[in-house]
Amino acid sequence: MERRGFLVAGLGALAAACSGEPRKPDASTPARTSSAPPSTAPTGPADWNALARGLEGKLIRPEDAAYEQARRLYIPRFDRIRPAGIAYCANPQDVAECMGFAARRKLPVAVRCGGHNYAGWSTGTGLVVDVSAMDGIEAEQGRAVVGAGVRLIDLHVRLGEAGALVPAGTCPTVGVSGLTLGGGLGALSRAYGLTCDRLESVQVVTPDGRVRECDARRDPELFWACRGGGGGNFGVATSLVFRTERAGDLHEFSVRWPWSRAADVLRGWQRWAPDAPPEIWSGLQINSGPADLEIAGMALADPGHEIEKLAGRVGGGDPETAVRRRDHVATMKLLAGCSGQSVEECHAPGRLPGQRPGGRFPRTEYAAKSHIAYRDLPDDAIKTLVGHFTGAEGRSVLIDAMGGAIGRPKPGDTAFPHRAARFCLQYIAYGGGNRAWLHDVHQAMEPYLRGAAYVNYMDPDLKDWRRAYYGPNLDRLARTNATYDPAGTLRFPQAL
Ligand SMILES: Cc1cc2nc3c(=O)[nH]c(=O)nc-3n(C[C@H](O)[C@H](O)[C@H](O)COP(=O)(O)OP(=O)(O)OC[C@H]3O[C@@H](n4cnc5c(N)ncnc54)[C@H](O)[C@@H]3O)c2cc1C
Repeated sequence: MERRGFLVAGLGALAAACSGEPRKPDASTPARTSSAPPSTAPTGPADWNALARGLEGKLIRPEDAAYEQARRLYIPRFDRIRPAGIAYCANPQDVAECMGFAARRKLPVAVRCGGHNYAGWSTGTGLVVDVSAMDGIEAEQGRAVVGAGVRLIDLHVRLGEAGALVPAGTCPTVGVSGLTLGGGLGALSRAYGLTCDRLESVQVVTPDGRVRECDARRDPELFWACRGGGGGNFGVATSLVFRTERAGDLHEFSVRWPWSRAADVLRGWQRWAPDAPPEIWSGLQINSGPADLEIAGMALADPGHEIEKLAGRVGGGDPETAVRRRDHVATMKLLAGCSGQSVEECHAPGRLPGQRPGGRFPRTEYAAKSHIAYRDLPDDAIKTLVGHFTGAEGRSVLIDAMGGAIGRPKPGDTAFPHRAARFCLQYIAYGGGNRAWLHDVHQAMEPYLRGAAYVNYMDPDLKDWRRAYYGPNLDRLARTNATYDPAGTLRFPQAL
């Protein structure tokens, strides 16, 4: 996708813009397969055929015509990874069946929903357990029951059409599971909280094959961990129940100053945005080649007065300002980067679960790193950041305001620890050519931001990733992981 195309999909870019297998167990019983002794024999075609027969959903193998498409994630550089099998699970029992199958054969398991993991860790060389086929959405009386395979465009539009919303991220093809399990930052988060804050209960198949209904009373530690502890760590979520808010019209706005004012704008924005009324969200976006900068935002009511305050903080000048009022669904489609397109078109193309035959939403080659800022950037840091936007195209930073409802819970109330943070910076390198720049800008900002990062922007190079993602919640998360996945079945390089 072209850089501009991505920008409309990004969070900080409103205006400028990813065989003998036992039959299925009953829900809430352990998979019978899990206690069988592990086999040391390689997994042969007969085993895979048996797994396929034991599933209500579809198992795709390398010899199948759909394999080339089924194995792909959102970011093309992971296309080299060739899973032994991809199971499109139709229900929690299919998931339990897969867990038992993989455990007996010591096959690595990767869990996948929307496939947007920045490090490619929702695929692997073993069995991919894909939840995309579980994509139902039912909304009534302030609640939404959402299948674990739902994509964000469907969450926004189908709930919106029923007059309801769950605050969530913007990219239409991101999966609700990965997003929610890691937190879920979006343009309505300052008003209504992170996506995980709206979670009332979640159904999870744990590696022992049990189907667990988790909430504040049942498996409360697992429920706590599912709200920010990161995807793929504790089990496979199969269904999520959210508390919804009423959806109404939204005011989308953008404010631009010339690039020569970049340092003033950044300084002024950071003093305004995280402390603005919760009904207002904004993100500051800097792009390279030629460098430009924009503040894009969204408000539940007319933001005119607050935009004046922002201009005052920046120290005047004559910014270009635009404010547009739209209904909820139209705004969500705009944010998703598919304004004017049908919902079908906002999906990835194809006929597999999660895709649509008329889908047009493209994949993007890019890499990203993040910092979570607990303090405003000092002048040196601002100068450093702005100074990194002098060169080639394909470099961006999206800085999303936090605070508001995100900051109301305490760091230990859910597994998402960054409650006191002011904003989240995401550095993005498009194409293959900007990776050295990405590394440099992140390193240059590190002394000012001291290593806090967002688990949903998973960074394979991050050294102290445990502390960066989880902060004070790390030990409790590690204990929860040891309780629910004692054998370490769900492994990837940054698994707990
Ligand atoms: C273009 C783009 C835009 C984005 N925009 C936003 C945004 O606006 N706000 C935001 O907060 N984040 C955003 N993100 C980051 C996004 O939240 C994470 O990448 C998220 O993990 C993606 O979830 P997924 O289901 O699409 O990906 P996947 O790669 O399928 O999964 C991500 C992780 O969750 C695990 N997982 C997936 N499904 C399950 C399940 N059912 N049960 C247990 N574990 C599971 C996977 O194993 C993997 O570790 C964006 C990412 C991209 C690429």
